[in-house]
Amino acid sequence: MHELKVAEDLSVIVLEAAKNGKLGKVSKVNILFGQLIQIVPDIFEFAFRECVRETVAENAEIDIEIIPVKMKCRGCGKDFRVMENRFVCEYCGSTDLEIISGKELFIKSIEGE
Ligand SMILES: [Zn+2]
Repeated sequence: MHELKVAEDLSVIVLEAAKNGKLGKVSKVNILFGQLIQIVPDIFEFAFRECVRETVAENAEIDIEIIPVKMKCRGCGKDFRVMENRFVCEYCGSTDLEIISGKELFIKSIEGE
Protein backbone atom coordinates (compact mmCIF):
# COMPACT_ATOMS: atom_id res chain seq x y z
CA MET A 1 0.00 0.00 0.00
CA HIS A 2 2.57 2.61 -0.96
CA GLU A 3 0.00 4.32 -3.17
CA LEU A 4 -0.96 6.55 -0.25
CA LYS A 5 2.59 7.83 0.22
CA VAL A 6 3.00 8.41 -3.52
CA ALA A 7 -0.38 10.15 -3.66
CA GLU A 8 0.63 12.43 -0.80
CA ASP A 9 3.92 13.36 -2.46
CA LEU A 10 2.33 13.99 -5.85
CA SER A 11 -0.56 15.99 -4.41
CA VAL A 12 1.96 18.32 -2.78
CA ILE A 13 3.68 18.82 -6.16
CA VAL A 14 0.36 19.40 -7.94
CA LEU A 15 -0.83 21.97 -5.40
CA GLU A 16 2.53 23.71 -5.44
CA ALA A 17 2.50 23.88 -9.25
CA ALA A 18 -1.07 25.17 -9.22
CA LYS A 19 -0.05 27.89 -6.79
CA ASN A 20 3.02 28.87 -8.83
CA GLY A 21 1.00 28.86 -12.04
CA LYS A 22 -1.75 30.82 -10.31
CA LEU A 23 -4.34 28.22 -11.23
CA GLY A 24 -7.72 28.72 -9.65
CA LYS A 25 -8.73 25.24 -10.62
CA VAL A 26 -6.82 22.16 -11.73
CA SER A 27 -8.83 20.31 -14.38
CA LYS A 28 -6.48 17.47 -15.25
CA VAL A 29 -3.33 15.86 -13.92
CA ASN A 30 -1.31 13.60 -16.22
CA ILE A 31 0.88 11.17 -14.32
CA LEU A 32 3.50 8.68 -15.49
CA PHE A 33 4.30 5.56 -13.52
CA GLY A 34 6.85 2.97 -14.44
CA GLN A 35 5.56 -0.57 -14.20
CA LEU A 36 8.22 -1.35 -11.58
CA ILE A 37 6.71 1.21 -9.21
CA GLN A 38 3.76 -1.19 -8.97
CA ILE A 39 1.07 1.37 -8.50
CA VAL A 40 -2.51 0.18 -8.64
CA PRO A 41 -4.19 3.05 -10.51
CA ASP A 42 -7.56 2.74 -8.75
CA ILE A 43 -5.99 2.77 -5.30
CA PHE A 44 -3.72 5.65 -6.25
CA GLU A 45 -6.61 7.69 -7.60
CA PHE A 46 -8.67 7.08 -4.48
CA ALA A 47 -5.75 8.11 -2.23
CA PHE A 48 -4.97 11.14 -4.40
CA ARG A 49 -8.57 12.33 -4.17
CA GLU A 50 -8.35 12.15 -0.40
CA CYS A 51 -5.15 14.23 -0.46
CA VAL A 52 -6.61 17.00 -2.63
CA ARG A 53 -9.99 17.21 -0.94
CA GLU A 54 -11.10 20.83 -0.59
CA THR A 55 -8.23 22.17 -2.69
CA VAL A 56 -8.12 23.63 -6.22
CA ALA A 57 -7.41 20.12 -7.49
CA GLU A 58 -10.34 18.34 -5.88
CA ASN A 59 -12.24 17.84 -9.13
CA ALA A 60 -9.27 17.22 -11.37
CA GLU A 61 -9.39 14.38 -13.81
CA ILE A 62 -6.48 12.01 -13.24
CA ASP A 63 -4.81 10.37 -16.18
CA ILE A 64 -2.31 7.64 -15.41
CA GLU A 65 0.04 6.22 -17.99
CA ILE A 66 2.02 3.10 -17.12
CA ILE A 67 5.44 2.81 -18.74
CA PRO A 68 6.53 -0.76 -19.52
CA VAL A 69 9.78 -2.15 -18.16
CA LYS A 70 12.69 -2.13 -20.58
CA MET A 71 16.09 -3.55 -19.84
CA LYS A 72 19.45 -3.62 -21.51
CA CYS A 73 21.61 -6.71 -21.27
CA ARG A 74 25.19 -6.11 -20.16
CA GLY A 75 26.13 -9.45 -21.71
CA CYS A 76 25.08 -8.99 -25.33
CA GLY A 77 24.13 -5.30 -25.35
CA LYS A 78 20.59 -5.80 -26.65
CA ASP A 79 17.58 -4.20 -25.06
CA PHE A 80 14.15 -5.72 -24.67
CA ARG A 81 10.83 -5.30 -22.95
CA VAL A 82 10.28 -7.32 -19.81
CA MET A 83 7.07 -9.28 -19.53
CA GLU A 84 5.77 -10.49 -16.19
CA ASN A 85 8.87 -9.88 -14.10
CA ARG A 86 11.07 -12.29 -16.00
CA PHE A 87 14.44 -10.61 -15.56
CA VAL A 88 16.49 -12.71 -17.96
CA CYS A 89 17.89 -11.59 -21.31
CA GLU A 90 15.72 -13.10 -24.00
CA TYR A 91 18.65 -13.22 -26.42
CA CYS A 92 21.50 -14.73 -24.42
CA GLY A 93 19.97 -15.76 -21.08
CA SER A 94 22.14 -13.41 -19.00
CA THR A 95 20.74 -11.96 -15.78
CA ASP A 96 23.22 -9.08 -15.79
CA LEU A 97 20.71 -6.44 -16.77
CA GLU A 98 20.34 -2.72 -16.56
CA ILE A 99 16.95 -1.05 -16.20
CA ILE A 100 16.29 1.47 -18.97
CA SER A 101 12.70 2.30 -18.12
CA GLY A 102 10.02 1.25 -15.70
CA LYS A 103 11.02 3.19 -12.57
CA GLU A 104 9.49 6.49 -13.59
CA LEU A 105 7.26 8.29 -11.18
CA PHE A 106 6.38 11.81 -12.10
CA ILE A 107 3.76 14.29 -13.18
CA LYS A 108 3.86 14.83 -16.93
CA SER A 109 1.62 17.86 -16.96
CA ILE A 110 -1.08 19.71 -15.14
CA GLU A 111 -3.98 21.41 -16.84
CA GLY A 112 -6.12 24.09 -15.34
CA GLU A 113 -7.16 27.69 -15.47
ZN1 LIG B 1 21.87 -10.71 -23.51
